[in-house]
Amino acid sequence: MAGKSFNPFEMAQAQFDKVADLIDLDTGIRELLRNPLREYHFSIPVHMDDGSVKVFRGFRVQHNDARGPGKGGIRFHPQETIDTVRALATWMTWKCAVVDIPLGGSKGGVICDPHNLSLKEQEQICRGWVRQMAKNVGPINDVPAPDVMTNAQHMLWMLDEFEAIQGSKFPGFITGKPVGMGGSLGRTEATGYGLIYTLREALKDKNINPQDTIASVQGFGNVAQYAIRLYTELGGKVICVSCWDQADQTAYTYRRNTGIDLDELLQITDRFGGIQKEKALEKGYEQLPADDWLKQEVDILMPCALENQITGDNVHLIDKKVKLIAEGANGPTTPEADNFLEEKKIYVIPDFLANAGGVTCSYFEQVQSNMNFFWVKDEVLSRLDEKMTSAFHAVNDLATKRNLYMRDAAYVIAISRVAQACKDRGWV
Ligand code: NAD
Repeated sequence: MAGKSFNPFEMAQAQFDKVADLIDLDTGIRELLRNPLREYHFSIPVHMDDGSVKVFRGFRVQHNDARGPGKGGIRFHPQETIDTVRALATWMTWKCAVVDIPLGGSKGGVICDPHNLSLKEQEQICRGWVRQMAKNVGPINDVPAPDVMTNAQHMLWMLDEFEAIQGSKFPGFITGKPVGMGGSLGRTEATGYGLIYTLREALKDKNINPQDTIASVQGFGNVAQYAIRLYTELGGKVICVSCWDQADQTAYTYRRNTGIDLDELLQITDRFGGIQKEKALEKGYEQLPADDWLKQEVDILMPCALENQITGDNVHLIDKKVKLIAEGANGPTTPEADNFLEEKKIYVIPDFLANAGGVTCSYFEQVQSNMNFFWVKDEVLSRLDEKMTSAFHAVNDLATKRNLYMRDAAYVIAISRVAQACKDRGWV
């Protein structure tokens, strides 16, 4: 999460400004797109199990909805800030646009730490969030979803509260619901698999066989786990993962040079993606400092944890062997680090393209929920593959044709589409 000096929203704006200059965007549309259209800040009182009342801060930021209803997750995190939410809402706008789904960009959050909250307390936060936002979210204006430290159960509580307030059933109000309760098959896998669909295409484009590649992954949560699953199925080898250690309040990297065993690690991992240190050591993993995932002699790096992880301070620690970075997390690389990567010609599949599998599948979930007709898993995943593959090639082709850094090429496509929608609507 955001450190003291790091402001993710300033970073999102810096990325935007660079491309706005590149495509010579008019002043009015530039001003409109570099800030959110709307934002909500509110308090959520919760009756704690110990009898006290604690008030949590909640947010929803609706960055832009020119292309369709807002879409974006709700994150629970102790260091959540409004600028993090603004940045993530902005990136959602670009993400939906780059994969060409008819949705805008939103994001929500609550400053809280679910590690220290009972399920009853978490349920009250979910219901309280919806009570505050019920008038301003919904299946045809803004559709929430899970994000860091929120899950299908949280979404179902939120849906239930929304439907109780509205007095009707609205399965399309929220996505990331449990399968069988309006959820889509394939949603759990979607972000990690989507990341690997784009990686697969990038390797194909570079004539590299996945079986000849080794990767190091930051994070071991939802995105990382499914990315590792599919990458390994394609023949790749992961030697490193890292995760946050709640007891020690620091992150560690776990390495096994012969390759990690995903299923074995899953057995010793909690629901927050934290690996049990002692058990990992018993199973022959080396425990290394937090940043070591970045320093490995591998072909591919996959940051799949949080924003602000590859920075001006540590980017030079990336090994010379690294050819490609596939960003599963949102905003893992700062503009300063981007300059270095661009100069060193390290190929980057940028976050809002690489991790768009989640929102694409959420869009499929919303479509299915609104129809009340659900597809089989193969149909979901093959539609997802099709969307991710075509979005990847559109960006890669533009980057090649205009000799652009991949992040800039993705931004050119996304910003142009959103700007056009705003113009077509007569907003600017
Ligand atoms: P998650 O909560 O399931 O997992 C996060 C993982 O990161 C955990 O293993 C945690 O231990 C680890 N982590 C936390 N702090 C760390 C640190 N300082 N160093 C190393 N590891 C650390 O979250 P997730 O759903 O896998 O999301 C990961 C990232 O991907 C986030 O940036 C999120 O916004 C982004 N993302 C997620 C989705 C999705 O569908 N889940 C979609 C798009 C983008």
